[in-house]
Amino acid sequence: MPSVLVVEDDPSIRQSLIEVLTEHGYAVRSAGDGFGALREVTQSSVDAVILDLGLPDLDGGDALRMIRGISSVPVLVATARDDEAEIIALLNAGADDYLVKPFSGGQLLARLSAVLRRTGSLPPAGGGAAGAAAPAAEPPRATTVGDLSVDPGARTAHLAGQELRLTRREFDLLAFLARHTGQVVSKRRLLTEVWREPYVDDQTVDVHLSSLRRKLGERAAAPRYLLTVRGVGIKLVAPR
Ligand code: CA
Repeated sequence: MPSVLVVEDDPSIRQSLIEVLTEHGYAVRSAGDGFGALREVTQSSVDAVILDLGLPDLDGGDALRMIRGISSVPVLVATARDDEAEIIALLNAGADDYLVKPFSGGQLLARLSAVLRRTGSLPPAGGGAAGAAAPAAEPPRATTVGDLSVDPGARTAHLAGQELRLTRREFDLLAFLARHTGQVVSKRRLLTEVWREPYVDDQTVDVHLSSLRRKLGERAAAPRYLLTVRGVGIKLVAPR
């Protein structure tokens, strides 16, 4: 299992990155600032570092040079600016690749596994548990909740025998909630596991939930299947 050090000072972004990477088979360590990152690189042997350049204590370029001073570990820098001169300077300073924020979980996984393949921490393309293109292993099982049935294998959902016309995202959202029927799922978790985009706003989830509610014939004020637990998240339940 390859190990990755995530260096990011924003706690919610850091948590999302940790979740995406953990879910894809990486052992993840994290640091919230540059000196914490240097400590981790010195003390633990990670296979790659994802380095946010906007850190509270050290300039990102300096943090990169200091890491390079003590280790040849592959470093992917995450920069907020799509600035060619800056990116060239970072690559010259020893970055192995870069990501421009906001980046998707898919892009992160693809670039990370490419870097790890180059450095031999992952087998060549195609193999490897942490490969970005690896399909979900779990066999799809249909779920029935009240009059609602969701079949992830066929990618269909029926309400009282009528097929629901859902968008791809609405279906993924419903299927994820169905897989966790009765459990409260946070919006952050939905963003990480359904959207796979740590930088997407919570409101995106709200928009999709409200259109899903409409198709299920309910409103947030009078929910039947999709119960909001204020401040915590949402759960799919059988209507009472
Ligand atoms: Ca930052």
